[in-house]
Amino acid sequence: MSKRSLKERLDKGPVICAEGFLFEIEKRGYMSSGEFVPMVSLDHPEALENLHRDFQHAGSDIVQAFTYNGHREKMRVIGKEELLEPLNRAALKIAKKVATNPLGEEENLMAGNISNSNIWKQDDEKAQLEVEKMFREMVGWAVDEGADILIGETFYYAEEAYTALKAMKETGLPSVITIAPYGENIMRDGISILDTCKELEQLGGDVVGMNCHRGPDTMLPYLKEIRKALKCHVAGLPITYRTTNDHPTFFNLPDNNGCSCHSPHETTFPTALDPMQCNRYEIGQFAKEAYALGINYLGVCCGATPMLIREVAEAVGLKVPASKYRENMENHYMFGKNKRIPKHIKEYRNKA
Ligand SMILES: [Zn+2]
Repeated sequence: MSKRSLKERLDKGPVICAEGFLFEIEKRGYMSSGEFVPMVSLDHPEALENLHRDFQHAGSDIVQAFTYNGHREKMRVIGKEELLEPLNRAALKIAKKVATNPLGEEENLMAGNISNSNIWKQDDEKAQLEVEKMFREMVGWAVDEGADILIGETFYYAEEAYTALKAMKETGLPSVITIAPYGENIMRDGISILDTCKELEQLGGDVVGMNCHRGPDTMLPYLKEIRKALKCHVAGLPITYRTTNDHPTFFNLPDNNGCSCHSPHETTFPTALDPMQCNRYEIGQFAKEAYALGINYLGVCCGATPMLIREVAEAVGLKVPASKYRENMENHYMFGKNKRIPKHIKEYRNKA
């Protein structure tokens, strides 16, 4: 079965990528929140495969191996370093299996994945070398397992993103690199969001942009600037929460919905964000606006559900397998306009 490259697809129109595996697998009951290690590829491979299939059905063109946080340092934190390579290979194999069994005619693209290490330190050569080694081993396994592209994501240090891209580029695979600045709206090593993206393009990023940490409202203004300044394809994958100028990321987002039972820790992140969830129309609106700007690589990160991925796909004019089950209020038992719906039921709608 033939398949087009990432660039061929992006040159032609929108490419959808589902992210947000961490939150969704946790919600499905297969991961410890807070700790957030993707043991699911070893412990419950069927659950991970199901989520990939659900995203594929909803229109994701890319099947991103769930190795986020599946790096050597995190495995050391939980005392399971010996499972590092098996975890990575299992996640990659599951993603490959789904990508090569598409619902349509064309195979999906399987993506290997590296991300923020959380041990990167400015001006600390030893720490930086350690991170570089972590990236190298992970992209090596991704190449072995047949990745079509590589995704480096959620970097909040510019220099760490550059290092990740370097390791990715060495494999010769097309590379997507997205950054996730914190609430100070600047990378932690003091480089501006725009300058970081410009440098990532210079370093050979095939697709450069932003993912995670920010909802549509606090990501889109930066995406606009990035799109204007860069020539390469641009990516935008926000979280699905209503972040604000006062709280540009989800880390310190206060509950604004009359919470009556607060989370046992200081923040609503990561387990009590639900009331600040964007609805599907807001996510669709984001995708539409971003696509109109010329941002062709689209998706959502934390908070993603198959329904929201379908919303992104449909907002940019795509019809996907899950479109079969798109909204049809016409036949709702009370709010629908279908002739068979009894008058006395319809009339009660405002008191329901
Ligand atoms: Zn995320």
